[in-house]
Amino acid sequence: MGRHFEGARLVIASHNPGKVREIADLLSPFDVEVIAAGVLGLPEPEETGATFIANAELKARASTLGAGLPALSDDSGLVVPALDGAPGLYSARWAGPGKDFGVAMKRVERELTARGLEPSGQKAHFVCALALAWPDGHCESFEGIVHGRLVFPPRGDRGFGYDPIFIADGHGISFGEMAPKAKHAISHRARAFALLIEACFDRRA
Ligand code: IMP
Repeated sequence: MGRHFEGARLVIASHNPGKVREIADLLSPFDVEVIAAGVLGLPEPEETGATFIANAELKARASTLGAGLPALSDDSGLVVPALDGAPGLYSARWAGPGKDFGVAMKRVERELTARGLEPSGQKAHFVCALALAWPDGHCESFEGIVHGRLVFPPRGDRGFGYDPIFIADGHGISFGEMAPKAKHAISHRARAFALLIEACFDRRA
């Protein structure tokens, strides 16, 4: 069992509003006030890790030190095996400085086409690494994965990031078309969360 979160306030070590919203939703059954790193003016550290877990830990550690409160971070991305794992750790960067995921999704399609592959139907998975760090340096981390296939053109305008081009195995609609509750039931983030909750949180009575 991991170290238990006992505090009342938790910093969400992310500057991505889509992620902050999903994490706040997932934590809503617990007695914890969540504060986004951006609201506290905490800087975004450079993601120099070689794995999702390493990047999540680096972000959580930067925020917990900056805020003096426990901090939870999420490092996640879309992995396309036919693109040798890209965009992977670079999922956010493929959207460019304008954070335009229309651009990023087009690039996935273009790079598959350039390899002579049919973009729709290609296997893909989302990975989510969560790290919960405390100011004394302790850190707990967890990883969740959801497998599926790509679909082009993008479908739906719910969710965020690459959601419109991803259909989870066993489902007929994209994450971009799913109600948030349905996505939360099966997503990579929900799976990593289930492990985090099991190890570090007490369910609210
Ligand atoms: P980072 O973890 O801040 O490096 O960013 C990860 C990027 O992966 C996000 O900006 C999204 O583009 C993408 N991503 C992560 N999780 C999801 C998701 O649940 N849906 C769609 N895209 C996601």
